[in-house]
Amino acid sequence: MHIKALILDDFKSFGRRTKIPFYEDFTVVTGPNGSGKSNIIDGVLFALGLARTRGIRAEKLTDLIYNPGHEDGDRKGGAREASVEVVLANDDRTLDRSQVVSAAGSDDIGDVSEIRIRRRVKETEDNYYSYYYLNDRSVNLADIRDLLAQAGVTPEGYNVVMQGDVTEIINMTPRARREIIDEIAGVAEFDAKKEDAFEE
Ligand code: ATP
Ligand code: MG
Repeated sequence: MHIKALILDDFKSFGRRTKIPFYEDFTVVTGPNGSGKSNIIDGVLFALGLARTRGIRAEKLTDLIYNPGHEDGDRKGGAREASVEVVLANDDRTLDRSQVVSAAGSDDIGDVSEIRIRRRVKETEDNYYSYYYLNDRSVNLADIRDLLAQAGVTPEGYNVVMQGDVTEIINMTPRARREIIDEIAGVAEFDAKKEDAFEE
């Protein structure tokens, strides 16, 4: 499974609907400072519900909505809603149909060779709302989390390596670094089970 495309709509600096393709093996995003490279990653984390606002460099969710006056902190006249959709290629059926149906709470989800996870944040006069969709079906964050966890994508996981993480990994003790490798390789889970078994 891999990300096939990202569709940003009034999210951060993307003031018009933007579709970004991702390739199966390797995709690099380049551009000058401040051009929106990191905002693309923020978009993935936002849509998949993998990060709190701090992790996506915003104080509140509504700061993620495109705002032409962003530099001067002026929030007038901008969009009222932002949306990001992550299109996952599931041709290899990393997630099978029944798993997707169960997360979507509906049988009517079309073909699961493509899984589309979308999140919207909407601002009103005095409040804001956040919505998640799975292949256009309205779902909760918990449904998205459960589904992604079945594909090995978790908020605690190392699916996303942030800027500061690399330095942190370099400065770790060899033991702590080894624990991360075990976690990625999926060995940590067995260590935990072994420990439980010894305790019993
Ligand atoms: P660098 O190379 O320095 O890491 P970058 O390409 O990663 O840069 P980003 O951090 O993705 O750049 O983008 C920063 C830009 O996004 C800033 O110009 C900022 O004003 C803009 N921005 C952030 N939030 C919003 C928003 N809500 N509305 C409009 N623009 C925004
Ligand atoms: Mg950046």
